[in-house]
Amino acid sequence: ALTIGIVGLPNVGKSTLFNALTRAGVLAANYPFATIEPNIGVVSLPDPRLQTLAEIFGSERVVPATVSFVDIAGIVRGASEGEGMGNQFLANIREADAICQVVRAFVDEDVHHVAGRVDPADDLETINTELVLADLQTVERAIPRLEKEVRGKKTDPAVLTAAQKAYEVLAEGTTLFAAQDRLVKDGVDPQALRELQLMTSKPFIYVVNTDEAGLADEGLRARMRELVAPAEAIFLDAKLESELVDLDPEDAAEMLASTGQDEAGLDQLARVGFQTLGLQTYLTAGPKEARAWTIRAGWTAPQAAGVIHTDFERGFIKAEVVSFDDLVEAGSIAAARSAGKARVEGKDYVMADGDVVEFRFNV
Ligand code: GDP
Repeated sequence: ALTIGIVGLPNVGKSTLFNALTRAGVLAANYPFATIEPNIGVVSLPDPRLQTLAEIFGSERVVPATVSFVDIAGIVRGASEGEGMGNQFLANIREADAICQVVRAFVDEDVHHVAGRVDPADDLETINTELVLADLQTVERAIPRLEKEVRGKKTDPAVLTAAQKAYEVLAEGTTLFAAQDRLVKDGVDPQALRELQLMTSKPFIYVVNTDEAGLADEGLRARMRELVAPAEAIFLDAKLESELVDLDPEDAAEMLASTGQDEAGLDQLARVGFQTLGLQTYLTAGPKEARAWTIRAGWTAPQAAGVIHTDFERGFIKAEVVSFDDLVEAGSIAAARSAGKARVEGKDYVMADGDVVEFRFNV
């Protein structure tokens, strides 16, 4: 499964956030593997459509899609030079598919800040600089090797071009993710760039860990949003989130509302994380369960069927597809069929988000 690595300076609230994520996952679904790896937290992707499907089909339970987070401890200034747990840290980030960076905006005299003052923009700069420096070293080492390989016709020249353009961006102190549009304009092939396995070309998400005052601070939101674009910023109070996961849904909703929020920070994080990873879901429903299945955008019906069982992909015959909205409007699958809203799709069909599907297959 794809994972999102959580990084940040010490004492910004990473463990508090990760703890809340892990407990939310364990409480929300019976995913035994959630507790096997202590540094992996598996959380449900909130999806109100599942409840609706369960009502239409009389399903016994709902099974949401999930998003996995990895707690990557240990970044400090100098990590790119092997300070702290530098090397292990960098290895862990390389394995993650996206990076969630936590910065601190909460004020608490009792919680020491490594830089001596609370400044989320400065936190962000420090971490991004470490990641940029580490990538810069990687590219600097790669370029002479790639030049040789291109001369020997062992490597596609597009990879060398990607490395050279990446070097220019990194040398300015910019992450490759923030410069993605510019790289594309400069003719860099995204696939060639991926082959270089640079950390800052992974998608980023920023979590601004703040307090009640910060949550209501529109100026802070606007400043941080501008700073992190094109990445998304999520504003939450990690301490509050860790309390919310212990409450029953009504009490949690009430407590959230009292802080002026309409969606829990963890739910926002799961949703944005899922999108950032380039994932989408399709739905199945029956008397047993209403369920969301995770696929990549652009997958065909047989590929999607393969997520349920590899035999379904091999033996794929066809799929009966109704869009969620059409199904809800019709009120039942039978009504959707007689209204002509149930389509029969073949092996070239590209799945759309919210397709409610029944696969036919040979085994
Ligand atoms: P980490 O080093 O980034 O993992 O940070 P921790 O999660 O261990 O948090 C460091 C300290 O800050 C702990 O004492 C937390 O209780 C506290 N803390 C974390 N998030 C918040 C928050 O949103 N508000 C306040 N006031 N304290 C927090």
